[in-house]
Amino acid sequence: MVVVMHHGASDAEIDQVCDSIRKRGLEPLLMPGNTMAIGIPSSIPPDVREPLGQILQILPGVDSVTHVSRSYKLASREFHPADTIVDVGGVRFGQPNVTVIAGPCSIEGYDQLKATAETVQRAGATVLRGGAFKPRTSPYSFQGLAEEGLRIMQQVGKETGIRTISEVMSPDMVETVAKHVDILQIGARSMQNFPLLIEAGKSGHPAMLKRGPGATVDEFLLAAEYLLANGNQNVILCERGVHPLDRTYTRNTLDLAAVPVLKEYSHLPVVVDPSHGTGKAKYVPAMCYAAIAAGADGIMVEVHPDPRESLSDAAQALTPALFEQMMEKLRGFVASAGRSLSRIEARA
Ligand code: PEP
Ligand code: MN
Repeated sequence: MVVVMHHGASDAEIDQVCDSIRKRGLEPLLMPGNTMAIGIPSSIPPDVREPLGQILQILPGVDSVTHVSRSYKLASREFHPADTIVDVGGVRFGQPNVTVIAGPCSIEGYDQLKATAETVQRAGATVLRGGAFKPRTSPYSFQGLAEEGLRIMQQVGKETGIRTISEVMSPDMVETVAKHVDILQIGARSMQNFPLLIEAGKSGHPAMLKRGPGATVDEFLLAAEYLLANGNQNVILCERGVHPLDRTYTRNTLDLAAVPVLKEYSHLPVVVDPSHGTGKAKYVPAMCYAAIAAGADGIMVEVHPDPRESLSDAAQALTPALFEQMMEKLRGFVASAGRSLSRIEARA
């Protein structure tokens, strides 16, 4: 059950709701946001639920009381029937927009990032990606430029006007990454790094959560719940492929069926990442088109000025020419889905 308070409800009104919940042996969970929401995360016996709901509904300061049957509450469509639109400095994720995020796997230097930003922006991308802190399987692989990379990203964002996203791997770096980029990326390997989710939740900074390679839909949405329950309403989900049966042909198995599932059970925008989903540049365009057909609100694509020189994920990076071709064709799929590519509006 979730109780949503009116905007500006007083502390006394909130306390009164909490007291009514505690009186029935249940523990309220305060979820601050634009408006205060009070959740009752445990299951409530049916004979308690109905009368409790009726009492809470008439308490002063209460806007609505919703019964949520799923284990995730704030992420569920039962709690929030309308699609959530996440506005990132004038770039919107969610109906009717399709937002294209593109850029290198890793930020390798100013020239590389600036050239990529100009290419992808010209072709219709509104968000530039690039990792500064890289989760690499081997400690001997390129680990990213760290804070220097973030500074480059911020500078390129300012110079081109494109919005930016970069990964944050640890709770203590949330503030620093949020200062430099428009969206925090929580990587697949970090999907269940709960201290990180809590910190990113408290920051309120737009966050894109990638699905762990072994995560079920419920686990994915419960991870999103951590962000929401800690006060962050600006959450974007990203499907990036799950562990494959067979690595011979693709790196992961892009679970496109998860897109309509997530759209049914959650109100949060869904982005698809076919680069990590397939691991091979030649399969990326087809999966981008398929993602639009499946109802995705955006795609994230790795692009490098010269993939042969890429310091990470070289095999899956599109060349600028291939990205331009893909975007040309994507426009047709976007239009036939009754949607339009998002634009960069002025920052609020
Ligand atoms: C990335 O986007 O560069 C990345 C590391 O992705 P994932 O967390 O999905 O592996
Ligand atoms: Mn990558």
